[in-house]
Amino acid sequence: MKFSAALLVASLAAAVDAFSVQHATTRVGTEMYARQPIMAGNWKMNPSTEADALNLSTGFVALLNEMEDTCAVDESEGCTEVVLFPPFPFISKVRDVVGPHGISVGSQQIYYEDKGAFTGSVAASMVKSVGCEYVLCGHSERRTMFGDSDVNINAKVRKTLEFGMKPILCVGETKDEFDLGITKEVCAMQVSKDLAGVAKEQMKDVVIACKLQLCCGIYCFYPVIIIIETTLAVLDEPVWAIGTGLVCGNNEANEIHKFIRTVLEKMYDKEVAESTRIQYGGSVTPDSVDGLMAMSDIDGCLVGGASLFADKFARIVNFKKQ
Ligand code: PEP
Repeated sequence: MKFSAALLVASLAAAVDAFSVQHATTRVGTEMYARQPIMAGNWKMNPSTEADALNLSTGFVALLNEMEDTCAVDESEGCTEVVLFPPFPFISKVRDVVGPHGISVGSQQIYYEDKGAFTGSVAASMVKSVGCEYVLCGHSERRTMFGDSDVNINAKVRKTLEFGMKPILCVGETKDEFDLGITKEVCAMQVSKDLAGVAKEQMKDVVIACKLQLCCGIYCFYPVIIIIETTLAVLDEPVWAIGTGLVCGNNEANEIHKFIRTVLEKMYDKEVAESTRIQYGGSVTPDSVDGLMAMSDIDGCLVGGASLFADKFARIVNFKKQ
């Protein structure tokens, strides 16, 4: 599909201001647009050894087997899909542990070329051959620390799909962009650029993760942020140097998710807008997951820190339906 990012953003500028509660669909939606919940654990560059990775995996599946509602124990419609993203060296062995329990593994990263002299890079075919079903594309850490551009991210999304895997496309603003008040514009731009050339029929395999670490937390906990910022200023450290653990307010997060559906509707159509799964990402914990998952347009979570604890991630996966 030909699509102009510039045109989209221009036309969205007005829509951003006017946006209110335009889509009243529930998370499970109508039968036509049912969205299966999906929980993903992004281990990042953890744990340190293969033995620790196997302990974490075995601990997690042991807990899951005691619980209900995950695909691991319940194949019925509406169960929760679970994906783990271990570091490359651990993928095969983690897959051997969790695969028999209905849990998928994914790759935190790929390079968009098929093979060749790209030292240190990993191709789509390689992660596919060790059992990956998903690939994280455009994670904020890749964007900010490793210079992943929207052009490269788009190439990775399309390469992931070409190899029969499913991209989890991560979008979200930086702190500077948040401060400028352009969160929605940034999300719209990333979604439009990163999905350029992805056909409507391929969108059933695309998941979007909206990572909003601090954005709405600033509204909800503004006085706390002021204290933290002041303290850090005294210590001469950036805010981003520490994890505040603040999560986006549920309603504010839901509003951004709904907004992303309006972007998808402009790019594709209502069916894609209402059936694409959108995860919330950013300091999700066992305490925050139930409230987030009660929101109409939050279909799952991308979980970093808490996924490194078997009990915490097992509880997140088994969120209580409200
Ligand atoms: C992540 O970076 O993928 C993530 C969601 O991290 P955390 O849950 O630790 O904020």
